Amino acid sequence: MRGSVRDLCFPGTCRVCGRVLIGQEKMMCLPCLYDLPRTYHWIFPFHFLTEILSCMPSCTWATSFLFFREESPYRKLLHRFKYGGEKEIGLYMGFLYGKELLRSHKTPPNPVIIPVPMSSLKRRKRGYNQAEWLAAGIALATGWGLDVSAVKRTREKTSQTVYGREERRENIKNSFIAKRIPYREVLVVDDIITTGATMESCARAILEINPGVLIGFASLAYVE
Ligand SMILES: [Zn+2]
Repeated sequence: MRGSVRDLCFPGTCRVCGRVLIGQEKMMCLPCLYDLPRTYHWIFPFHFLTEILSCMPSCTWATSFLFFREESPYRKLLHRFKYGGEKEIGLYMGFLYGKELLRSHKTPPNPVIIPVPMSSLKRRKRGYNQAEWLAAGIALATGWGLDVSAVKRTREKTSQTVYGREERRENIKNSFIAKRIPYREVLVVDDIITTGATMESCARAILEINPGVLIGFASLAYVE
């Protein structure tokens, strides 16, 4: 965490366009911050992610902060966060996201945040779970609780990028195990959502042992 504090104090260059940051700019320059491809899911009631709700009655709402487009310059930002070791990007983006969620009238008042876990093997390899850093940023902005041990990942599936929704659901099925939790509402957080299969599998594990818990989904980016 010391690295993140240092980076926030001495921000360096914009993680999107590479320009030298000035004044109060952190992580990205003001134009890049202004142009973030926000989805505004947290304001508009109907979008792709609400389809997840239709198959899971205990799920109350779903949002993604950004659109993820292959040709977008913001792709670099997400790539650096996920694969480049720059976990502080997740903390910062989570903080921005959390501030937006607080403005939403759809957001439950006080959910506990549960980041989608990684297998211990993958975590050792990568050094961190990006969903946890994003969740920590949201928790920092909102004051909501954070539980990183409520769900464990029992196995890591092979890359899901080639699969469609139904194949992904089958591929990721039974990959999580949850413990009993005392919360009434939880917010499952992950970095990128494509079909929602991973989040759904994680939510099903929570519901299996905690029937009646209300579940919301929040991801950093939604792949169009
Ligand atoms: Zn920039």
